[in-house]
Amino acid sequence: MLQYASTLGAWVKAAGMGLPPMIHRKSSAALADEHAETRLHCDVTGAKPNSFSNVSAGKTEAQHREELALFGHMLHQRGLVVAADGNLSVRMEDGAILATPTSVCKGLMQPEDMVVVDDQGNRVKGRRLITSEIGMHLAIYRLRPDVMAVVHAHPPIATGFAAAGLAIDQPLVAESVVCLGTVPLAPFAMPGTPALAQSMEQFIPDHNAVLLANHGAVTYGETLQQAFWRMETLEHVAKITLVTRVLGQQNPLAEGDVRRLLGVI
Ligand SMILES: [Zn+2]
Repeated sequence: MLQYASTLGAWVKAAGMGLPPMIHRKSSAALADEHAETRLHCDVTGAKPNSFSNVSAGKTEAQHREELALFGHMLHQRGLVVAADGNLSVRMEDGAILATPTSVCKGLMQPEDMVVVDDQGNRVKGRRLITSEIGMHLAIYRLRPDVMAVVHAHPPIATGFAAAGLAIDQPLVAESVVCLGTVPLAPFAMPGTPALAQSMEQFIPDHNAVLLANHGAVTYGETLQQAFWRMETLEHVAKITLVTRVLGQQNPLAEGDVRRLLGVI
C-alpha cells in the first residue's frame, strides 16, 4: 500500500534515528526559528501569526469558541470540507475538549454551536449533538499530551491519495519536511465508529498528520492555528505530489538535505 516505502524509510529514519523522540513534533514556530538563516518558514498560507490564535495557553472558553468558528469558516472557504463535513476541537486548560458539533456546515458555524465534552466523549455543555468522530480526537489527545487542537477534514487532493491507497511520504518540498513530516495512510475504518480511532492509533505518536483511507485526513498541533496550517500544507503538498505524478517524474530531497532541514546534522 505504501508505494513510496523506500523513501519513507529513509525519511522516517532521518527524522527518528538518534534523536529525541519528539524531534519531528517540534512546533513549526520553533523549527522556523531554527531555520531562520535559510529563510525557511512555515507561513505557507501567507497569513501572519497573531496573538489571537498562535498560543493555546491562557485562553478562555469564549476565545476558543471564536477560534473554532474562525478556522471552521476557513476550512470551508478553502474547500477543505463541504456541506457539514469535518470537525475541529481544542483541549482547554481544564482538560475538557471543546468541539464542533455534528451536522453543522463549518462555513456557517457560530461560537455558541460548540460542544464541551469530557475525556470519555460525554457532552457536559452545549445544545447541539457531539460529532460522531469525537473518538478520533480523544485518541489523539490521549496519545499526544503535547497536542492541544485537532482538525479533521476531507481535502479533495489529499483524500484522493487516501482513496488511491497512497501515503504522502516523499520529501518533495522543504516546507513539508519541516512543518508536516511524513503522512502515513491508515487503513479504512467505518467513520463514526471506534474502529476509526483504532485504525490510526499506531501512527499518532510519530506523525502530525494522517490520511484516512477512502475518507479524509486528520492533522493536529500545539494550537488550532498549527493544526489548521498542517491541514492546508497537507493539501498543498498533495497538489504538488500530484503534479509530479502527472509529469511522470519525482526528484525527492536527498537524505542529507532532509537531515539538515530537520536539524539533525
Ligand atoms: Zn470525515
